[in-house]
Amino acid sequence: MWIWMIGLFIIVIIAAVWAVIAITKKNSSERRKDNIVQLTKRRRAMKNSETLASRNQKCSRCNKAKRLIFYSNDWGHVAGLCKECRKEIGDKQELYPI
Ligand SMILES: [Zn+2]
Repeated sequence: MWIWMIGLFIIVIIAAVWAVIAITKKNSSERRKDNIVQLTKRRRAMKNSETLASRNQKCSRCNKAKRLIFYSNDWGHVAGLCKECRKEIGDKQELYPI
C-alpha cells in the first residue's frame, strides 16, 4: 500500500517541478516581450528626437525642404517658414519667432 503512496508522491513532485518550470519559462518570455516593447519605444523616441533635431523640414508655405524658422502670427497660428517665405509674409503681417 505505501509503495502506491510513494508513487503518487513522486508524480506530485514531478508535476510541481514541471509547473514551476512552465511558470518560469512563461515569466521570462513575458519579460523578453517587455524588453522588446521598451526597445521599440526607445527607438521611436530616438526617431522623434532625430526629426526634431533635423532642421530641414518642409516649409508650410512653399513646401520645399529647407532650414525652417518657426513663427506664430497674430492669431497664434504656428508655421515653419523658410527665409524666402518669411520675407514675403513678413511684409504683410507680423510674425513672432518662437
Ligand atoms: Zn518657403
